[in-house]
Amino acid sequence: MSDAFLSPEEIQFRDSVRAFADREIIPNATRWDMEEKYPQELFQKVGALGWLGCAFPEEVGGSGGGALLYAIMCCELTRGSTAIALGLYVHSALAGSAILHLGNEEQHRQYLPDVIAGKKIGCWAYAEPGAGADVSRVATRAVRDGDHYILNGSKLYITNSPFADFMVVVVSTNPEQGIKGMSVIIVERDTPGVSVSEPFKKLGMGASEMAEIVFDDCRIPVANLLGPEDKGFILALKVLTLGRIAAAAQAVGLGRAALEEATSYARDRVQFGKPLVGHQFVRFTLADMATRLEAAWQLTINAARLVDAGLPFDTEAAMAKLFATETCTWACERALHLCGAQGYMRESAAQRFYRDCKVMELGEGTSEVQRETIARSLGG
Ligand SMILES: Cc1cc2nc3c(=O)[nH]c(=O)nc-3n(C[C@H](O)[C@H](O)[C@H](O)COP(=O)(O)OP(=O)(O)OC[C@H]3O[C@@H](n4cnc5c(N)ncnc54)[C@H](O)[C@@H]3O)c2cc1C
Repeated sequence: MSDAFLSPEEIQFRDSVRAFADREIIPNATRWDMEEKYPQELFQKVGALGWLGCAFPEEVGGSGGGALLYAIMCCELTRGSTAIALGLYVHSALAGSAILHLGNEEQHRQYLPDVIAGKKIGCWAYAEPGAGADVSRVATRAVRDGDHYILNGSKLYITNSPFADFMVVVVSTNPEQGIKGMSVIIVERDTPGVSVSEPFKKLGMGASEMAEIVFDDCRIPVANLLGPEDKGFILALKVLTLGRIAAAAQAVGLGRAALEEATSYARDRVQFGKPLVGHQFVRFTLADMATRLEAAWQLTINAARLVDAGLPFDTEAAMAKLFATETCTWACERALHLCGAQGYMRESAAQRFYRDCKVMELGEGTSEVQRETIARSLGG
């Protein structure tokens, strides 16, 4: 892949994360997938390397790396395992970032050092039985009672929730106002009235644990509110748009893993008197995969560079997310096809990639949500 315009520091960072994935993640990824357990010790391992603070400013203990470095990290970790990268991402880029961007100094002091060190694990709880692509449908209610809010409702499909220490929860504080009446609040896991279901069984990403959270008359201190009441979610949507770039980078990372797997099989497997890679259909499929993934990566780093330059990036981030995730799904299907029956076996990485890829098109705004954003920028 062409990283020709990365600086020496960016290349060094990329190589460090890549080596970590090769050493610590890839050899275990299939086993973790089958065991359906997230290796929680990775939070502290990655935290100790300083990478959970990659996109956090130095004032709060981060390394001030910015969007491009964060995209590089997401890409390389996902090349190791989508499930592992997702858990780290939800923790740092959603739960942690919401605290960074919406929180006050006291909230920063209380949470961010442990988030960056991986000592306290977070989840981001937006989705609900009635709220998916349509963000205005959040029904979990927070009603003010003196210096507390009383929370009632439930959150569905929440990654990391089976083991998270704290939850960053989107709530409705003013139901008549729809999305303009939605706030964001930190809920400690041990709050009375909070319950988390058993982890769900999923198509892919076995090692990523997700569940339902129920809030039953939970008393949450007003001091846990992130950002202004009623405005917090709209503000969060703006700052978390960065998540689309991370999702695009993850999709490129998974697509690259699929390409590597297919190329390796095609080099080793001999049929009709020569390695598969000697047959034109196979060569051309690999060439198409490499080309589309390269285009996806260039869109991704372009969007990240816009963020780092302080320029508008919404449309470019939507384009990167849309193209990279759909390319990833295509590449993972092609890789499984090229790996034949061996790829279809449960021990193979190719089938895991094929099961893992689809969710990329759903999270961080589905493909349709991205197309809407792009169409709006055209005046459509
Ligand atoms: C593995 C996994 C992990 C997740 N982790 C989290 C998490 O940590 N936190 C969290 O809050 N949520 C999480 N989610 C849930 C995620 O936020 C939702 O999947 C997402 O918001 C989409 O909602 P939905 O799945 O209910 O789809 P729906 O809203 O039911 O949409 C179904 C389909 O209809 C399409 N659609 C909807 N409206 C329109 C329209 N107007 N025009 C055209 N097409 C439309 C959608 O694009 C989609 O393809 C996770 C989901 C998965 C699968």
